Amino acid sequence: MQVTAANKLDSVRIWDAPDSTRVVFDLSSAPEYSYFTLTNPQRLVIDLKDATTKVKLTDIAKDSKLIGKIRLSTPPKKGTLRLVLELGSPAKANLFSLTPTAPYGNRLVLDLDNTDGKSSAKKAVVKTTKRAADVVVAIDAGHGGEDPGSIGPKGTFEKKVVLEISKRLARKINETPGMKAVMTRTGDYFVNLNQRSDLARNSRADLLISVHADAFTSPQPKGASVWVLSKRRANTEIGRVFEDKEKHSELLGGVGDIIQNSDSEQYLVMTLIDMSMDNAMAESHNIATDVLSGLGKVTKLHKSKPESASFAVLKSTDIPSILVETGFISNPQEEKLLLSGNHQQKLANAIHKGVVRYFEENPPSGTTFSKQSNVKHTVRSGESLSVLAQRYKVSVASIKKTNNLKSDVLRIGQKLVIPRA
Ligand SMILES: [Zn+2]
Repeated sequence: MQVTAANKLDSVRIWDAPDSTRVVFDLSSAPEYSYFTLTNPQRLVIDLKDATTKVKLTDIAKDSKLIGKIRLSTPPKKGTLRLVLELGSPAKANLFSLTPTAPYGNRLVLDLDNTDGKSSAKKAVVKTTKRAADVVVAIDAGHGGEDPGSIGPKGTFEKKVVLEISKRLARKINETPGMKAVMTRTGDYFVNLNQRSDLARNSRADLLISVHADAFTSPQPKGASVWVLSKRRANTEIGRVFEDKEKHSELLGGVGDIIQNSDSEQYLVMTLIDMSMDNAMAESHNIATDVLSGLGKVTKLHKSKPESASFAVLKSTDIPSILVETGFISNPQEEKLLLSGNHQQKLANAIHKGVVRYFEENPPSGTTFSKQSNVKHTVRSGESLSVLAQRYKVSVASIKKTNNLKSDVLRIGQKLVIPRA
C-alpha cells in the first residue's frame, strides 16, 4: 500500500539576527508538529506529521552562527518527517505556524533566542547606559528577514530600500553634533515589535522613527506621508487590524507577530493609552509636521498633513514616535526612485533636517541641544507668543525684546530666537 504524505516541506530559510535566529519551513499545507530539545550536544528535534521532503538540507545552515547543521533522522512513526537541528549553543525555542500571506504559503516558524552568557551581558550594558548628553534617535527600518514588506512591480522589496534609507539617515544623525542614532535592525533579519520598541526604550531614545514604503493595489498612488499615533482611532483600528490578517504584516511590521504573539492581550492593553501619553503624542505630531515639510521639498507628498493611525510600531507610547512612508513602492516611478541611492539620500537628508529642526526648537533637557544659548523657533499655525512663552518657560516680554517685536501678532513661518530662561 502506498502511503500518501499530506504535507511537503518545500524549503528552509534561515535568518540570523544578532541575538536570535529565525528558521522558516515552507510547507505545502498547514503543519501538524511537535518538538523537543536534547543536550550534549545541543539539538532541537522537530517532528512533522505526514510529511516528506526533497530539500537538500546539507548546506542550508552553513552560514548560520547558531545552527551547525539541519538533518533528517529516523522518525518515531512511519510517515513522520523528523528534522534535527544541531545548535552551537543553548537557545530558547518558540515554534508556531503561519497561514499563507503573499508571497509565502504555509509556514512553520522557529525562533531561537540565544541564551548563552554573551548576548545577555551585552543587553545588560545597554540597559545600564546613562542618559547621554546626546539626543538619541531610534531608527526602525521596517520589516526584514522573511517579512519583505510590500513588493514593487519590478520585485523590489520594501525591507531592502527602507534599510538603505535608514542607514543613510543614521549616518546623517551620527554626523550631527549632539545627536546619536540607534537602529532596531542593521541587516536583513526579523526583529519583532516588542524588541523594536524595547530597543528604543533601552537606549533612552528621544524619538522613534519607523521607515517604510507604501503600497496600493493599483499603480497610481504616489508620494510620501508621515503618520503619528492616534489616541482616538486606536481602539477601532485595532479591531480592524485584528480582523484583517493581510494588513497585519504591513501595519505591524512583522509577519505573524500578532497572530502568534502570546502577548496580544498585553498589546491591547498597551494600546489603551493613558493620559501620560498626551505629551508624547503632541510632540510626535510636531515632529511629523517638521519631517513632512522637509520631505515635501524632495518628493511628492501623498498627504500634506501628518496622518493618524494605531501602528503597532508606534505603540512605544512614552517615546514620541513617527512612521514615515517614504513613497509608494507599488508605483513604477517611485519604485525606481526608492532604489536610487541619490533619492534615498535626499529622503534621509529631508527626514534628518526635520528632526534637527524639531530638537533645536524643543531640546530635551540634559542634552547638548538644551545647552545652546538660544533656541530657534519657526512659528506654526495656532502658535501665539503666550503659547511659546509657556512652552519655553520664558516671558512674552523677553521673546519680544530678543526679536525686536513691535506687536503681539505672529505669522506662520516667522523665525524667532527664543532666549534661554
Ligand atoms: Zn512597511
